[in-house]
Amino acid sequence: MIYLDYAATTPVDQRVLDAMLPYFREMYGNPSSVHRLGQKAEAAIEQAREKIAAVLHCKPEEIIFTSCGTESDNLALRGAALGRRNASGEKWILTAKNEHHAISKTAEQLAKEYGFLLEWLDLNEHGSVTPESLSKAVCSDTALASVMYANNEIGTINPIRELAEIAKANHILFHTDAVQAAAYLDVNVETLGVDLMSLGGHKFYGPKGVGALYARKGTKLVSHMTGGGQENSLRAGTQNVPYIVGFAEALHLAAEEREARTAHVKPLRDHIIGNVLETIPDSKLTGHPEQRLPNHASFVFKDVDGNLLLQMLDSAGFACSSGSACKTGNPEPSEVITSLGYSRDWGLGSLRVTLGVDSTPEHIESFLKTLPGLVENARKLNQR
Ligand SMILES: *Cc1c(COP(=O)(O)O)cnc(C)c1O
Repeated sequence: MIYLDYAATTPVDQRVLDAMLPYFREMYGNPSSVHRLGQKAEAAIEQAREKIAAVLHCKPEEIIFTSCGTESDNLALRGAALGRRNASGEKWILTAKNEHHAISKTAEQLAKEYGFLLEWLDLNEHGSVTPESLSKAVCSDTALASVMYANNEIGTINPIRELAEIAKANHILFHTDAVQAAAYLDVNVETLGVDLMSLGGHKFYGPKGVGALYARKGTKLVSHMTGGGQENSLRAGTQNVPYIVGFAEALHLAAEEREARTAHVKPLRDHIIGNVLETIPDSKLTGHPEQRLPNHASFVFKDVDGNLLLQMLDSAGFACSSGSACKTGNPEPSEVITSLGYSRDWGLGSLRVTLGVDSTPEHIESFLKTLPGLVENARKLNQR
């Protein structure tokens, strides 16, 4: 099997696994315990926090450990919206339709169940939120804006620094979902200027089931997990020590090896994009042609069932992904693809190819040899 789905998840780096292992059976104490085993676990968590803070250029106490990227997004959006409303009464939430569901569904729930008002920010033809789009939507009653750093389906990178500046000038909180971006982009919160930023371990060769939220000092958050006083009372529950250790090591390695990893995947990605657009008729790149993640290629093919294409690729030995979730016989293009403005005949045929450390030129050649024939076959089946 040739794995071309690194945006869905990544394998755990051996060095990350090695760092985690002692915390399962040797240093297994509860970090809240007073005895030495507990202290060792607590020290491991605090070291992890410092390691992450060094990458993010923030203070260790501004990091909150969570169970995944989704939970970080939930805590950021719900926690900050409620915190903000309690403090000063603002009711509007600004975000975009092409956000990960961890944000868009949370925003919808805040509108439906918590009485917030929700405005979807305009997106341009590449699926990007522009500074003008945010400026236009901000009002004196805005609580916060949430815009993803890089889109998981189409790879588009948003101008986070400019957006955060607008938010700051208008005294609103700014959150970014950096879960997909952190593997390749600089996550320095000082230069980005964000108040809140979500991360998830398994998108950068760390374990699944662990995430972190950066919350700038002084940002009022309402906890969504009540119980013990862990994580500064913002996220109760005994911390997952080995996973937190793994998360920190993985992020540290991602920062240290960012340039080398980018240099490895980018030419391969460019080759895929160039070759697919040239050899496959009625194909289009989705997302921004330049402002996109260096490991990310995504397409739509006219008159192709994307799910069928994925199955064909799987049978041929390639693991890829598509933007259309199959809803029992009635496939619909994802919100991300739909928001780019594609009609159904294009939107249903989306394909995402994402690369990583184990991708080789041979993998790519083999993929590019196979894909055109499969697209052709999928088209034939589509006509019947
Ligand atoms: C994967 C992903 C998430 C969810 O992270 P989990 O750790 O899988 O919960 C959220 N946002 C983006 C952009 C992602 O790519």
